[in-house]
Amino acid sequence: MTIAAIATPRGTGGIAVIRISGGAAFNIGEKIFRHKTKKYRSFFDIPASTAVFGDITDAGKTIDSGVAVKFASPASYTGDDVVEISCHGGIYIASAVLGAAINAGARLAEPGEFTKTAYLNGKISLTGAEAVGRLIAAAGEAGARLASAQSRGGLAKKIGAISDKIKDIISEVYVFIDYPGEDLTDISPGDMLEKLIPVKEELEALKASYGIGKIVADGLDCAIIGKPNAGKSTLLNMLSRGDVAIVHDTPGTTRDIVWSKVVINGIVLNLYDTAGIRAPDGEVERAGIEKARAKIEECALIVGVFDAGEDYGEDDYSILEILHREQENGKKILAILNKCDVSPIVLDASKTSFPALTISAKNNTVLDSDISAYDAFGELLETIYALGGCDLDSGEILTEERQYFEICAACGNVDSAVAALRGGFTQDTAGLDLELAVKNLDRCDSKAVSEDIVDRIFKNFCIGK
Ligand code: GDP
Repeated sequence: MTIAAIATPRGTGGIAVIRISGGAAFNIGEKIFRHKTKKYRSFFDIPASTAVFGDITDAGKTIDSGVAVKFASPASYTGDDVVEISCHGGIYIASAVLGAAINAGARLAEPGEFTKTAYLNGKISLTGAEAVGRLIAAAGEAGARLASAQSRGGLAKKIGAISDKIKDIISEVYVFIDYPGEDLTDISPGDMLEKLIPVKEELEALKASYGIGKIVADGLDCAIIGKPNAGKSTLLNMLSRGDVAIVHDTPGTTRDIVWSKVVINGIVLNLYDTAGIRAPDGEVERAGIEKARAKIEECALIVGVFDAGEDYGEDDYSILEILHREQENGKKILAILNKCDVSPIVLDASKTSFPALTISAKNNTVLDSDISAYDAFGELLETIYALGGCDLDSGEILTEERQYFEICAACGNVDSAVAALRGGFTQDTAGLDLELAVKNLDRCDSKAVSEDIVDRIFKNFCIGK
């Protein structure tokens, strides 16, 4: 079946691109595109990857003029024959050209169907296809860089290499078992363990990369907490480089949670400015504080703001208590001592045990430093999440829950193999666990994935991709 869709976003623009893919793509091109290049007799004569100008027609009637490019199977995005027609970028015109392709025999493509076809034709791996979806959705540079490397096969290659190493170990075991009398490599449990441990470490490192991968791909939810008037809204505005939340010296101004999506050092941050936490003055403030507490539960990063201009009071201690509790829960904490322009006390990081900054959110400055508070915040984030040590351009970082679960299962199976060998079981018993690990790895990327999962992956794509 030949499929067609508008591949560019809906709306008005310079051009729109209609993509047609499938066995009848060139036939449809012949029916709806009248090229104006004398050297080609028909659409079929146009060489692949050559742009030609011409009229776009529907049932013989000209509806627009534009440029067509042919891509011959298998050298196309989907692996099938593809025609891409660029027409004028109007909502009506793009739909009319798509309509012409449908009238000429194409079917409207489902969301992600072009990429799904590419996957089914072996043009792209499953992790590569997932990365294409991520690349389109990326709002920050870090996420786009990682997705781009993954879409070029970075992650698939890494998983494939680990799988190959395990297969090599398995084959040595089976050669030995199948031909015990022959003078073939006799892999002892000790040798097998020695080969297995580095593979186990590689797998564990990949599993651990999911922590950073999720942040880079999905962004980071960050709650800004503190007592009323500490400067939380001012901090949110400073990091957002705009006027997002109301700043006022009346304590308890922020009741509802104010959300701002920002990109700092390439990382997407969902910042949530919450109501100041203290003994509430009335029902509305109480409701705001409850919302703040619920938001703290949801966020992975908690920024505690303190007012340098005031002595520490009970409210600050309850914020510190929350920060300590959340740190014990495995969350990342960042302490901000604000208003250093009023009171230049340096926050003693050793006393808080949290990474800390002494700033003036109002002036976007850091105490005793030339860099802006915005930049200092970004640098601290990079340190907290060790982003400097993470090679985004290799693509060897997990971002999808589906991949993560398979890698966890593979780790579990390799662990069982290691435990079996250490416990005195034979090499073939450990080999069975390793075979399961290979299946987990193959499911990350090959056609061993069920149709249901494949459909679920591509359903999240937009139409035209
Ligand atoms: P929130 O209640 O914690 O959200 O605090 P706001 O951001 O609304 O700020 C409370 C008051 O502190 C406002 O009058 C701000 O202008 C002031 N403020 C916030 N940050 C600073 C700062 O860095 N220096 C000074 N001098 N005042 C600040």
